[in-house]
Amino acid sequence: MPPVSPPRAWAEIDLAALRHNLGVAREVSGCRVMAVVKAGAYGHGLEEIARVLADEDIAFFGVANVGEARRISNAGIDTRIYLLGATWSEERAEIVDREWTPCLSSLDEARHFSDLATSANKRLKCHLAVDTGMGRGGFVPEELPCLLPELEALKGIEIEGVGSHLPSADEDENFTREQFTRFAEIVAKLGGRDRFEWIHLSNSAGLLGYDNSPCNLVRPGLMLYGISPLPGHQQRLRNVMSLKSRVTLIRELPAGHGVSYGREFITERPTRVATVGAGYGDGYPRSLSGKGTEVVIQDRRFPLLGRVTMDQIMIDVTDTTVEVGDEVELFGPDVRVDELAAKAGTIAWEILTGITPRVTRVHR
Ligand code: PLP
Repeated sequence: MPPVSPPRAWAEIDLAALRHNLGVAREVSGCRVMAVVKAGAYGHGLEEIARVLADEDIAFFGVANVGEARRISNAGIDTRIYLLGATWSEERAEIVDREWTPCLSSLDEARHFSDLATSANKRLKCHLAVDTGMGRGGFVPEELPCLLPELEALKGIEIEGVGSHLPSADEDENFTREQFTRFAEIVAKLGGRDRFEWIHLSNSAGLLGYDNSPCNLVRPGLMLYGISPLPGHQQRLRNVMSLKSRVTLIRELPAGHGVSYGREFITERPTRVATVGAGYGDGYPRSLSGKGTEVVIQDRRFPLLGRVTMDQIMIDVTDTTVEVGDEVELFGPDVRVDELAAKAGTIAWEILTGITPRVTRVHR
């Protein structure tokens, strides 16, 4: 047997921090929680994260598609699963069979679910999606009062909830306040809490920054993983994922030597250059090149030199005792992923969900 090589890059996932952040979501909103675990629990490992959260009395898991729902159910987890997006007609028999909860955006879809459930001798619990500004799915609010009796007459489905989505809770406070008011009015018109068991609107930003009293369920994703989309709330949350690697090589380069592709960086003085075993092939964005990006080794920050390559980056460790094998934090509690995202011209969601499969996830 060849010796087992330690991974070049790995992601440490702090499960106690995940539980803590769930507690914050509950405390701030006063609502039950649908934990959004789509895209492999934002890159943290779907089954592992779902197993931990299933023990924390959450109301639903929110997933993007049937494939993710299947993975949770197949892991033997019996917390209810809510499908956040539209479903293909071919998937609906399985949704009925496994009693996952779809959100409905059209009468046709509702009829199809009802027919399938009726032939399976079931009554499927569904939620109404209402479009209050996202423009991605859901019924247009104006059409609902006259459609609702028709929807409720369908024998195979039970409309147990109503939800909508916030497109700009972290960018536009006025619009979002109005959206909350409009959603509350629509829900009241449709019968409010007497009619719906579940009423939900908020993602992480909506949950943290606004009064959620019209609702009894919230759908946090990002904040569960320790990042606040709104300033002023970060200190309550604990970092969950740390992307790590090690120094693989250290070399002394003379002044005037190029570093990395394109030779955009040229050493100005004799430089001790450490090579670290992670790159854009691990999901560390190439767009971090030349942006003053830093990594952390033993509580000290070190600047990136030149471009991020597929499997390696180079950093300046001149006049330090950094050695081959030293652990490097690419992001985590000391360099937050939202700091990196701002430098890379993207968002924390994209970096987290873009950490590639070759990065070993270590849950602890
Ligand atoms: N609800 C819906 C419908 C979503 O699509 C998402 C994520 O994109 C969320 C909730 C969770 O959002 P966030 O990660 O901003 O909390």
